[in-house]
Amino acid sequence: MEREDRRDQAIAAVAACYKGFDPEAYLKYNYTPPRADFHRSDSMVWKLNCLHKAFSEDGIKGELLVDVGSGPTLYQVLSACENFNRVVMSDFLEVNRNELNRWLKERQSNFDWTPYLKHVCELERRSSSAWQEKAKRLRSVVTDVFPVNVHQAYPFPAGSLPASGADCLLSCFCLESVSPDVSSFTQALKNLGSLLLSGGHLLLIGALGESFYQAAPDVRIPVVPLDEAQVCASLSVSGFQLLQLSVYHLPPDMRLGVDDTEGVFFAKAKKL
Ligand code: SAM
Repeated sequence: MEREDRRDQAIAAVAACYKGFDPEAYLKYNYTPPRADFHRSDSMVWKLNCLHKAFSEDGIKGELLVDVGSGPTLYQVLSACENFNRVVMSDFLEVNRNELNRWLKERQSNFDWTPYLKHVCELERRSSSAWQEKAKRLRSVVTDVFPVNVHQAYPFPAGSLPASGADCLLSCFCLESVSPDVSSFTQALKNLGSLLLSGGHLLLIGALGESFYQAAPDVRIPVVPLDEAQVCASLSVSGFQLLQLSVYHLPPDMRLGVDDTEGVFFAKAKKL
C-alpha cells in the first residue's frame, strides 16, 4: 500500500472514533470540578490566564479570529471576543456545532459557562456583574460555527472565510487528538496556515504526552503523544515563527483516568 493511502486510512480510523463523541460527557469530564475548579490554580486557570495575557497584555487583535476544532466549548474565546470584530468557531462534528449554537443562539444549552465568564472578567479587572456583558458580546461577535476538517488542504468550506485569511487562529486540544502520528499533526498545522494572513498570530493549546482521552463512558479516542521539541519542530516546518512556548505539568491529583495527559502547552506563533 502507498504511504499516502496508509496515512488516509490512519486518519479515517481516528475519524471513526469520533462517531461516539458525547459533548455532554466530554464537558463533564474536562470542564466541571475537579478539572475546572476556579478556587485552585490548576490547568483551567492556567489556560485562561495564557489566553488573557495574549489578548490583553500582548495586544493580539484584529478583524477576524477563527477557532479551529472548537468542540462543545466556549472558554477559549472568552478573552478573544473583546479584541476582534468577528469570531468564527468550528468543529468536525455536528453534535458539537449544535451544542455551541444552543448556547450562542437558542440559549438552551445545559452547560453553565457562568463561572468561566466571571473568572475571565476578574482577569480583565472588570466588575463581578460584567460577565453578562461578556456573554452578550460573545453572542454578538461569534457569527458562525462552521464544519472543519484539519486534514484537508483548506480546512473550511469553500467561500466561508475571507480569501485574505484571518488575523488570528486559535486551536485548543484539536490537532493532536485528531492526528494518528506526528507527521499528520504537522501536515494539519500546515493546512491551518492556509487560513491565516501573513504575519497573523496562531495560538495553540494542546496536550503533552497524551495517548488517549475519554469522549464518552465507553469511547476512547487515540491521541498522538507530543513533546515540547516536536511541537516546536512542527511549527517551524509549517511556516510559523515561535514567539512563546509555556508548559503546565499536570499534578498527580488531576490525573483522573479520563485521559493520560502529562502536561499542557501554550504556543504563540506568527505566520511567516
Ligand atoms: N477545543 C475543544 C477543547 O478545548 O476542549 C475541543 C477539543 S476535542 C479534544 C477535539 C475536537 O476536534 C473535537 O471537538 C472533535 O470533534 C474535533 N475534530 C475531530 N476531527 C477533526 C478534524 N478532522 N478536523 C477538525 N476538528 C476535528
